[in-house]
Amino acid sequence: MRKVCTKCGEEKELELFKKCKDCLDGYRSSCNKCFNAYMKKYYEINKCKVLKINRKSYYKTKLKNPELLKRRRKKSNDKRKTDIFLKLRTNISNSIRKSIYNNGLKNIQKHIKFLVVLLTNLNNILNHNFKKE
Ligand SMILES: [Zn+2]
Repeated sequence: MRKVCTKCGEEKELELFKKCKDCLDGYRSSCNKCFNAYMKKYYEINKCKVLKINRKSYYKTKLKNPELLKRRRKKSNDKRKTDIFLKLRTNISNSIRKSIYNNGLKNIQKHIKFLVVLLTNLNNILNHNFKKE
C-alpha cells in the first residue's frame, strides 16, 4: 500500500511512515524523512525542554522497570562490541565530552588541538588499514 506525504507531497510505501495509534489509518501523515527533519528542528529550538522530558522518562522507567534499562544497556554494549564504526564514534564523542567537562569551554584552542590530533590519528589508522585493496 502507498500513501501521500502531506509535507513533501511524494507518494511513498506505507512502511516509510511511522505508526500512530491516534491517526485515522494508523500511520502519521508525514513520511519518516519529513517527520525526522521536523523533530530535528524541534529539538534544536526546544533542546532544554526535550532533554528535561527525556531525563524524566528515563528516571520513570528506572523506577518502574529497571530490567528494561538493563536490557537496553546490554543491547547497546553488544552492538558496540561488533560494530567498529559505532565503537569509534562513541569513543570520539566520549573523549570530546570528557575533555570539555574537565577543562571547561574556556580553553577552546585546547579542544581544537585535541580534535586535530584525534583526526590526524584517525586518518593515519584509516589509511594504514584500508589503503591496500
Ligand atoms: Zn515527506
